[in-house]
Amino acid sequence: MGHQRFLVAAVFAVLALGVPWAASTYPLHTYAVMSAFEDIASRLAAVIAVQHNPKTVPDLQFSYDASALPAQPKVRVLIVPGHEPDYGGAEYDSGDGHVRERDLAAELAQHLAGFFKADSHYETFVSRDADAWSSTFANYFDSQMPAITAWKDAHKAAIESMIKLGEFKPVSSKVEHNDAPDPVALRLYGISKWANENKIDLVIHIHFNDYPHASSRPGKYTGFAIYVPEKQYGNSTTTRALASYVYERLKKYVPVSDMPAEQTGLVEDQDLIAVGALDSLDAPSMLMEYSYIYEPQVTDPEARSLYFKELAYETYRGVQDFLDSRPASDDQSSDTLMLPHVWKAPVTDKSGSTADIFALQTALIDDGEYPPKGKTMNDCPRTGAFKSCTKSALQEFQNKYGIKGEKGIVGGKTADKLNELFAARSI
Ligand SMILES: [Zn+2]
Repeated sequence: MGHQRFLVAAVFAVLALGVPWAASTYPLHTYAVMSAFEDIASRLAAVIAVQHNPKTVPDLQFSYDASALPAQPKVRVLIVPGHEPDYGGAEYDSGDGHVRERDLAAELAQHLAGFFKADSHYETFVSRDADAWSSTFANYFDSQMPAITAWKDAHKAAIESMIKLGEFKPVSSKVEHNDAPDPVALRLYGISKWANENKIDLVIHIHFNDYPHASSRPGKYTGFAIYVPEKQYGNSTTTRALASYVYERLKKYVPVSDMPAEQTGLVEDQDLIAVGALDSLDAPSMLMEYSYIYEPQVTDPEARSLYFKELAYETYRGVQDFLDSRPASDDQSSDTLMLPHVWKAPVTDKSGSTADIFALQTALIDDGEYPPKGKTMNDCPRTGAFKSCTKSALQEFQNKYGIKGEKGIVGGKTADKLNELFAARSI
C-alpha cells in the first residue's frame, strides 16, 4: 500500500510541475523528454486508478469468521435492485395488473435485506427502494459524477491497452442486453466505485428477466439464471464460487431458466456493468435474474409476497453456505420457508390458502412427486395455485401412501399424512 501511495505522489508531482517547465524555461529537447515522461506518468496514473484488489474466497470466509468477534467489522453486503427508481426494466400486463421489473426488484430486495439485517455477521446496504435512491447513493451520484466518469474512462483505457497488447480478449455476450443510456450506465459504474471505496464484500443485483412476447401473453421461457463476471476479470473466481452455492440452494425448488444460453444456470458475461465490466469491481457480484416477469407466481401479488420471500431466503442461505466454512452441525433450519406447515382439509382448486398450496407443492417436491412424471419444474413451477401440476403430483403422493377416496384433493387422510411428514419437520 505504501508503495502505491508513493507512486501516486510521484505522478502528481510530475503532472503538476511538468507543463510550466516545458513551456518556458527549458529547451526543446527537454520538452520532448518531459512529454515522454508525462505520457508515462499519465499511463502510470491510469494504471494506478484501475489497480484493485479483488476479494478472494479465503478473504471473505475469514471476514465472516471474524465478524462474530466483538469490535470486528461485519461482512458488508450491497443489495442493488435492478434499474432505477423511475426508469428502466421490463414491464408486463397480466390479469393481475401491470407489473414493473424495477418495482419487483425493490420488493424482493426488502426481503433479502431483512434476512441479512437479522444476522449479526452482516452489515447491509441497499441502493434504493421503489421510490428513490438511498440518501447515500443520491448524494454520491450528485457529488461524484465527474470522478465516476474519469474512473470509468481509466478502466476503459486500461482494458483497451490490454487488448492491444494481447493480454485481454474481448468476448461477446451470449445473451443480448439492452444498453443502458449513458447517465444510467454511469450510475451503475458509480455503484461499483462506491462498493470498492466502501470495502463492500459482496454485491447482489436483483432483476427479472424478459423475453419478447405478444402483450399480455407470457413469453417462451421461464426460470432463474445468475450472471457472473467473465473469467478474465479479477472478481470472477470468487463470484463463481459464491454464485454456485446460491444456485444450488435455488435450484432445489425453483426452475432453472430453459432459455438455451441460460440453461447452465451460471452465465458468464463481460459487458454487464453490474458484475464488474471493464474489471472494475473488487467484490464478487452476482446479477440474479430470479424469474421471467410473466410467470404467474410473480404477477399475482399474493403469491408473489410468499414467493419473493422464499427466493430471498434461498439466496441468503446460499451466501451462508459460501461464507460459513464451519456450519453448526446441529443446524435445524429448514431448506425452505414454505415448510414446516400444518394443513387443514380440504385443500383443492377451490379451497385452501396460497400458503397451503405453496407448502403442498414444496412438500411434494421434497417427497419426490413434484413436478409430476413427464413434466419439468419449468412446466410446473411452484405457484401457490392449485392446478393440474399439483393435482397430478398429489395423486402420485396418494398412490405412494395408499390413500384412497381423495383423488387429487387434500382431504382428511391426505392432510394427516402431510402433517405427519411435514408439519414438524425441522423442530
Ligand atoms: Zn433487468
